[in-house]
Amino acid sequence: MVKNIKLEDDVIALKGIGPKKSHILNKSGIHIIKDLLYYYPRDYEDRRNIRSVASLREGESVLIRAKIKSMTKGRYRYGNKHVLRLLVQDDTGEIEIIFFHSPYMERLLFKDASYGFYGKISALGVGLAMVHPEIDRDPDKSTPSILPVYPLPGGITQNELRKWQREALLLAPGLVDYIPEDMRVKNRLCGLEYAIRHIHFPKDIRRLKEARYRLIFDELFLLQLGLSFVKQKYASAEHGIVFCEKADLELFIDKLPFALTRAQKRVIKEIEDDMESRKVMNRLVQGDVGSGKTAVAAAAIYKAVKSGWQVAMMVPTEILARQHYEVLSGFFSPFGIKTGFLSGNLRRGERQELIKALADGSVDVLTGTHAVISPDVKFLKLGLVVTDEQHRFGVNQRNLLSDKGKNPDVLVMTATPIPRSLAHILYGDLDMSVIDEMPPGRKPIITKSVDSKGRKASYEMMRREVYKGRQAYVVAPLIDESDSLDARSVKELYEEIKKIFSDCAVGLLHGEMKQEEKEQIMDGFRGGNINILVSTLVIEVGINVPNATFMLIENAERFGLAALHQLRGRVGRGDAQSFCILVTEGKSDLAKERALVLENESDGFRIAEKDLLLRGPGEFFGVKQHGIPELDLADLSKHISVLDVVSKEVFMLLKKDPLLEDMEHKNLKQKLHKSFINLENAGI
Ligand code: ADP
Ligand code: MG
Repeated sequence: MVKNIKLEDDVIALKGIGPKKSHILNKSGIHIIKDLLYYYPRDYEDRRNIRSVASLREGESVLIRAKIKSMTKGRYRYGNKHVLRLLVQDDTGEIEIIFFHSPYMERLLFKDASYGFYGKISALGVGLAMVHPEIDRDPDKSTPSILPVYPLPGGITQNELRKWQREALLLAPGLVDYIPEDMRVKNRLCGLEYAIRHIHFPKDIRRLKEARYRLIFDELFLLQLGLSFVKQKYASAEHGIVFCEKADLELFIDKLPFALTRAQKRVIKEIEDDMESRKVMNRLVQGDVGSGKTAVAAAAIYKAVKSGWQVAMMVPTEILARQHYEVLSGFFSPFGIKTGFLSGNLRRGERQELIKALADGSVDVLTGTHAVISPDVKFLKLGLVVTDEQHRFGVNQRNLLSDKGKNPDVLVMTATPIPRSLAHILYGDLDMSVIDEMPPGRKPIITKSVDSKGRKASYEMMRREVYKGRQAYVVAPLIDESDSLDARSVKELYEEIKKIFSDCAVGLLHGEMKQEEKEQIMDGFRGGNINILVSTLVIEVGINVPNATFMLIENAERFGLAALHQLRGRVGRGDAQSFCILVTEGKSDLAKERALVLENESDGFRIAEKDLLLRGPGEFFGVKQHGIPELDLADLSKHISVLDVVSKEVFMLLKKDPLLEDMEHKNLKQKLHKSFINLENAGI
């Protein structure tokens, strides 16, 4: 290697990397040599043990040492491929080794010579075989080791990457360890150079573990530290609206049709403090389905309007927007507060009128779908922005709405229970309030999972509920029947239910219906004129019909746990006992396990935690969308204990040195700036 290469040099400086390969590496985010060192293996090959041929099993990747007994050339059965078959042997037995389309192999190997072969064992024909193994031509000389397996960018081989990494590692002593010494000692972290060295070429498993822990710690630590700064920035934004202390909430609360729970009161107080302070409120209210988030939002809205400001509330579906509009108008009309409703389906004339009223300030509160962020919607004096069911919106949509005012306060509500340990990662820029108490008299929903044989008995249960004057939901995943998907459609189900429950009023609801039809059906169900509502997932969020006590969900295996919990939350909203039947065809262990979670658990937080474990965070939420650095090794669902340690370290560090000004934190600050894109705006 040339002496004067540095970590910051372009990868093209390494031997064997020309313009073409460097271009490929660039596309995988590897530009400089240091990037290469941070390109971690996805797996390892353990070549420390030479396995005996007799012990091999299908599916394992192993190293064997064997002598070539015979070599035969031929054509592959299908097509015209060249195939080379070796029969090799050690003291315990024989196995076939096969190379397709590699005529040159024949010239590299010699009969009766011994080689090391590393590869995956497959079942081929009657016996086992190793296809396209890697060959060690001089097995007596090579030292047994654990080798990295990298995710391969197209056009680059495993051996090339290993070679380049070995070369890059010669520069590893130049890596600057940005974790302060005392933190390293206290948490028993190995040094950065050591970690990088052993994540690529670990001497043994113990060292690999040390390396992994250190690098996982780093990823989570930098993430949390960066997020703390973003959060601090919001907290110090002292240019927010100061809402009036005299806007007396007691008056409003007294007029509510129920007494607030302790949790609701506490959260309202937290919101009030934010609103009265100079900082811009940026608060997430998290509360399980049915915990009464609407009333909490209504209190905030009341306060804003009474202080002389307008409010916009954005909701993910039209059905829910309309429901909120009705509830809020009911709450507010006695106080002379004017509420408006906006969706993409409003008639032109109505829309024009509403837009005018918002611009001149004669409508105080706007409730609507994402139509509220359309450019022609302008407010005279927007002071508070509320989004319900935040998980359905991206951060961008939230910001677009805020931009319609001048630093309005922001209140975000979600029922998707994000495990506490993750909430501050995902919503690091928000303060959080939790409504952790249900209104009195609520009973846990009795949940049962059945297969299709249990459907008949379930229908009998549903009939008993309906005869008692209660209402029921039947939910199916598809709108139309499908040949390719093995699931039930609402239309088919609707016909079936209508036949079986011929003496009941049955309604059908799905997303492709016209808005007016949808409203008519929802009104019918809300008013009690429809006994059974057959529906798709459109009812998942927010719908509130407390007289509904029974829900049957078809093909429950097709929905995520959190979605099922939300869906189930449409019943059990009054004080009567409610029921939820999950019809599941899946016989897999996962399907059973999921059903069991719902049968035994009614707490949304714990369900979310289990969901996370069963599904993994990638599916649970799109991390990328939130603009935080990517995690390569750390896994937010698996490394919760590391996350705890890291949180404490971040807290203590910032208490000591809030702006990272100490000399000993200089490297850390630099590293932070490199891994976080938006920190400049956060003022460090
Ligand atoms: P979510 O948190 O799921 O949005 P909602 O705000 O829709 O819940 O409230 C669910 C139901 O509980 C509604 O019918 C609402 O009127 C009722 N509710 C809310 N708070 C209380 C309370 N403190 N006491 C009794 N009922 C309440
Ligand atoms: Mg709600």
